[in-house]
Amino acid sequence: MSKKINNKKASDDQFNRAADLIGLDEKIRTSLNVPDRELMVEVPLRKDDGSIESFRGYRVQHNNSRGPFKGGIRFHEEVDLDEVRALAALMTWKTALVDIPYGGGEGGISVDPSTLSDLELERLSRRFFRAINPIIGVNRDIPAPDVNTNPQIMAWFMDEYGMINGHTPGIVTGKPIELGGSLGRNAATGKGTAIIARETANLLNMDLQDAKIVIQGFGNVGSFAGRFLHEMGSKIVAVSDVNGGLYDPDGLNIPSMIKHNNSNGTIKGFSQGDKVSNEDILNIECDFLIPAALGGVVHKMNVDKLNCKVIIEAANGPVTPPADDILFQKGVHVVPDILTNAGGVTVSYFEWVQNLQQFQWTEEEVNNKLEHKMVAAFNEVADMMNSKKTSMRMAAFAVAIDRVARSFEMRGV
Ligand code: NAD
Repeated sequence: MSKKINNKKASDDQFNRAADLIGLDEKIRTSLNVPDRELMVEVPLRKDDGSIESFRGYRVQHNNSRGPFKGGIRFHEEVDLDEVRALAALMTWKTALVDIPYGGGEGGISVDPSTLSDLELERLSRRFFRAINPIIGVNRDIPAPDVNTNPQIMAWFMDEYGMINGHTPGIVTGKPIELGGSLGRNAATGKGTAIIARETANLLNMDLQDAKIVIQGFGNVGSFAGRFLHEMGSKIVAVSDVNGGLYDPDGLNIPSMIKHNNSNGTIKGFSQGDKVSNEDILNIECDFLIPAALGGVVHKMNVDKLNCKVIIEAANGPVTPPADDILFQKGVHVVPDILTNAGGVTVSYFEWVQNLQQFQWTEEEVNNKLEHKMVAAFNEVADMMNSKKTSMRMAAFAVAIDRVARSFEMRGV
């Protein structure tokens, strides 16, 4: 089995357990779990020195029973077909869970983009998008940013697609605001995470006011989640980034820390708090632990040292499946990534809708609609968890798989 957290074997296991829970008809299991289409492309790049290098690119379209395929494009040297398959499947369940009219897909190039110049990155991005052009479309498959891809790369994708097919801003989401990006998209995943933490506190009769929170990772997701939870009255007692963490049991001044982080690109050097390592930050006594950086940080070897009541999975796959089982037995709630971080794809969907309408919504409209979607999904997961006496993760998968299965059956084969 691959050592990666996002591998197809792990996602198959989750799928099968949730499918058992809802008694999913054996006859449609394979259809729902096997990708609809997989495209592997060769992406040649003319380097600045005139030489040519070749890279392997992928687009996997997992399932479109509920609408066009939707999912990120990742540029990373470890991208391979197995990882892309797993991420594509997770997108099918995530879009179904928040009930937006999409299926799931994912793509990427096996490349370390830090080795490329800006012009090389642009040429590679354009060439890749041209290579997958035959299978994407505004009503077929709508890519988005993922690891090491960003609004600028989405702008190049949109431009390249437009040269072949005519101006089509809705072909990608996560674009710069000037090119049809949505207001509120930047903060959406962190905002969604804070909403889910708030709803979890209500469900478990915990008081979010004065709740002690630890956040690992202070990038886009971690810093916005921290900001919104601080505004809700919680005490963020520890935060870390790639350079290590800071701890103050009385609560860190999050607005000042965000300013420091924005100016310095790191929380390192911030004036408040005692230093704590990225391993030790996970063991700090708290109500909510929010891993918002990497996959696989809570695993079999460190799970017994954790000191939290709830884990809110803001990153993708921060808790490994064996650790997840141990936490469930111990009564520690784990709010799964497909629910917690679904705010990002939800506002991506709003971006696509605005592009199709050729009309921009206000940030307030976007945030109100996001709140509604996240709370509705949370309530469905909570109901499923209570009725099936299962974990939140299994409940989230069960809600999502049931929704996809019903669409699949209604459409017919
Ligand atoms: P980002 O690059 O903006 O931030 C990552 C943060 O993690 C940075 O603060 C970085 O310093 C920190 N970090 C890196 N290595 C670390 C380590 N070893 N220990 C502690 N911190 C470390 O990324 P992001 O967009 O905030 O994404 C974070 C996670 O959320 C990822 O798993 C991503 O897949 C997931 N996610 C993001 C979005 C989104 O909309 N941005 C949506 C869904 C899921």
